[in-house]
Amino acid sequence: MSSPPVLYYDVVIIGSGVGGGCVATQLAGTNLRTCILERGSRLPREMENWDAEAVFVDQRYRTHEHWEFDSGKSRPGQYYYVGGLTKFFGAAMFRFRVEDFEEVQHEDGVSPAWPIRYSDLEPWYGQAERLFGVRGGQGADPTEPWRTTTYPFPPIPHEPVLASIEQRLRQASLHPSPMPAAVDYGSGGKCQRCGTCDAFPCRIGAKGDAEVCLIDPALRQPNVSLRTGVKVNRLLTDSTGRRIVAAEVEEGGEVREIHAETFILAAGAVNSSVILQRSSSPLHSSGLANSSGVVGRHFMNHNCTGLMALHPLRSNHTRFPKTLSVNDFYFGDTSDPSFPYPLGNLQLLGKLSEPMVRAAMPSWMPRQVGRWLTGHSVDWYVMSEDLPHPESTVRLTSSGQIKVHWERTNRQAHQRWVKKATAILKKIGYPVVLARPFTVETPSHQCGTVRFGTDPAASALDPMCKAWDHDNLYVVDASFFPSSAALNPALTIAAQALRVGHHLRTEVLR
Ligand SMILES: Cc1cc2nc3c(=O)[nH]c(=O)nc-3n(C[C@H](O)[C@H](O)[C@H](O)COP(=O)(O)OP(=O)(O)OC[C@H]3O[C@@H](n4cnc5c(N)ncnc54)[C@H](O)[C@@H]3O)c2cc1C
Repeated sequence: MSSPPVLYYDVVIIGSGVGGGCVATQLAGTNLRTCILERGSRLPREMENWDAEAVFVDQRYRTHEHWEFDSGKSRPGQYYYVGGLTKFFGAAMFRFRVEDFEEVQHEDGVSPAWPIRYSDLEPWYGQAERLFGVRGGQGADPTEPWRTTTYPFPPIPHEPVLASIEQRLRQASLHPSPMPAAVDYGSGGKCQRCGTCDAFPCRIGAKGDAEVCLIDPALRQPNVSLRTGVKVNRLLTDSTGRRIVAAEVEEGGEVREIHAETFILAAGAVNSSVILQRSSSPLHSSGLANSSGVVGRHFMNHNCTGLMALHPLRSNHTRFPKTLSVNDFYFGDTSDPSFPYPLGNLQLLGKLSEPMVRAAMPSWMPRQVGRWLTGHSVDWYVMSEDLPHPESTVRLTSSGQIKVHWERTNRQAHQRWVKKATAILKKIGYPVVLARPFTVETPSHQCGTVRFGTDPAASALDPMCKAWDHDNLYVVDASFFPSSAALNPALTIAAQALRVGHHLRTEVLR
């Protein structure tokens, strides 16, 4: 049987998530033949998209891969589709704070400074907000960073239960603020307030995910193409080891090479580090871009806990809950001098429903209990920074399976923040608050495994996300983060990838 023909492009982008999609956006309309390689398919638009039973209980859209965790092997909360993890994201589009780019002392050590400042990303944050159609409001959040552009759309209004919560938070001397959200909501918008969003795909394309906002618009330009069902296994170099010449891929049951002048790796923080490690050769015994030894280290995923705030006499039928966030304790709790460290962010979670609780709780719990709980609860997400630990690793086992080991950090800070948030919710009228931590088997906010920096001995990428060790390899997904901050990552991935894409278009590939 003849082998498939070798394909040649100017630029190959591996992965169609936020990082890959933003670089494609910047290269669209140029004369650079750009091909996006995506291992997944288009996610079908079907009734099950909005069905909690299908999404949570049957896990219809999760990968069938098993990864090895410290708790054993399991199917991770990982998704492979055009648009990447944003197909399932909650659409919260926060900018990181100015201080998140600086060194910050935490309970468990130092959150390192980034090689770039907030001011380097500020214009790109603005562009990312426009591309994703972010709805947001300024002025209420005491930690919000400065901005040179306003949000493209006003904030999504609170539904009645949340409007009353906002008022009570203010009465408690807090500063609740509108949650910036990438949802096409409001007059003339597509959103139908279906009651799902966070952790569900959008059946009507109203959520601003990477497929809708980046990939599809880029594909309207003749120089950009997308190949789905193409899994990149490894990258191949020339004889010097400095240049990547091809991606070795599996496509339709065959192994083939796809060649390009420039490679943009954007397969997500776990898979990008795995592709680099799998590309080891006699020239690069510990994998590509890895003379510093940091590839696959410093895996981070945020410390997160879900809270259900309950009042037995108050039901909650909110359809779109992700409109409120509290950052008063992001940098710490000034009323407690005994613990002078950052705590984190509190934000509303997507509305929980009975099947979602059933999927996470012991099987003996009667369904009526789950229905009653979720019919009354206001659901929150408590997030604290996860520090980069060199022994938090993503590795391959001898059989080629992904193995994630997570050294927990900032546990005390997170516990304090959960306790504080619980006390706040009780104070504003919810006498019962149930807590459940998120585990590493749900690597939603994975980042840090191919960090960027200014020192080639301590980082894999330079401040423009180019591999120090290679002339034509860039890594633009969440793996470049040297720290995780305590806010959702997508807008920051987008801002840096837009910056890198612009640099490629105007400086490198002209
Ligand atoms: C349930 C959930 C809720 C979330 N909510 C929010 C939120 O509200 N706000 C927020 O900011 N963030 C949120 N996140 C996180 C956010 O979605 C991610 O941080 C972001 O999408 C990551 O983008 P990325 O480009 O780094 O990688 P990914 O989105 O993982 O993209 C990588 C792409 O590469 C493909 N790929 C992987 N391996 C290969 C390979 N070998 N060959 C070819 N292609 C490959 C993947 O299929 C994928 O399409 C959430 C995530 C989840 C899962």
